[in-house]
Amino acid sequence: RHSAHPSSQPLGGASPTPSAQGTLYIVSAPSGAGKTSLVRALLERNAAIGVSVSHTTRAMRPGEEDGVNYHFVTPEAFEAMVERGEFFEHAWVFDRHYGTSRVEVEKRLAVGEDVILEIDWQGARQVRELAPEAESIFILPPSLAALRERLSGRGTDDDSVIERRMRDAVSEMSHFDEYEHVVINDTFDHALTELECIVHARRSRLDKVRERYAPLLAELLHGVE
Ligand code: 5GP
Repeated sequence: RHSAHPSSQPLGGASPTPSAQGTLYIVSAPSGAGKTSLVRALLERNAAIGVSVSHTTRAMRPGEEDGVNYHFVTPEAFEAMVERGEFFEHAWVFDRHYGTSRVEVEKRLAVGEDVILEIDWQGARQVRELAPEAESIFILPPSLAALRERLSGRGTDDDSVIERRMRDAVSEMSHFDEYEHVVINDTFDHALTELECIVHARRSRLDKVRERYAPLLAELLHGVE
C-alpha cells in the first residue's frame, strides 16, 4: 500500500520528474482522534504517498504486526540507534521511546515519494528544525465527549486508566497551535477530504510543479511539437 512510484498525477498524461524530492508531512493528534484510520484511508486513495514506520520500545498490541505498525525494538536496541545518530527525530512519549529512522525517510523522499510522519508534538518540533519545509497537520476530535467515548474502548478499562488517557490526550492537544493546518475529525469523510486537499494544494504549489514537471513546462512554453 506504500507506493514508491511517483505515478502520473492529474496533469493529463504528464509524469513527474523522477529526480523531484517528495514532501514531508507531519501528522499529530491525541490518541482517539482517528489519526491512524485517516492516514490509512489517505494512502489507499492516493499514489506516491507513504507513511514512515516508526521504531518503538512499547509492547505490540493485539492485531499489530512488527515492521508494519512499528518496528518493535528493545530499549537497548533503541539506545544504540540513538547513539549511532540513526534517528531523524525521537522522543519519550507516555513512558516509551518512539523514533523515526533517518534512512527510511531520506530514501523515500529521494525517489519522489511524499512521506507522512505520524509523530507527537515533541517529534514535530524536531522535524520543523531539520526540515522547515515540512507541512504539519494536527487532527482534533469533534468534542471532548467523543474523545472520551473513543478512549473508553470496549468499556472494560478502569476509570483511572481512562482518566489518564484523557489527561494525555489533552496534553497532546494543547500543542495544536504549533501546526500549519488543523483538521477537525467531525465526520471521517470530511476530515479525509481536508487532508487530501492539503496534499493536493501542496503538490500544485509553483515550486513543486517546477520541480516535478520541468520537461512538461519546457515543452508547453516551447509551443511546437
Ligand atoms: P501509540 O503507541 O498509541 O501508537 O502512539 C503513541 C504516541 O506516539 C502517538 O502520539 C504517536 O503520534 C506517537 N509516535 C508514534 N511514532 C512516533 C515517532 O516515531 N516519533 C514520535 N516523536 N512520536 C511518535
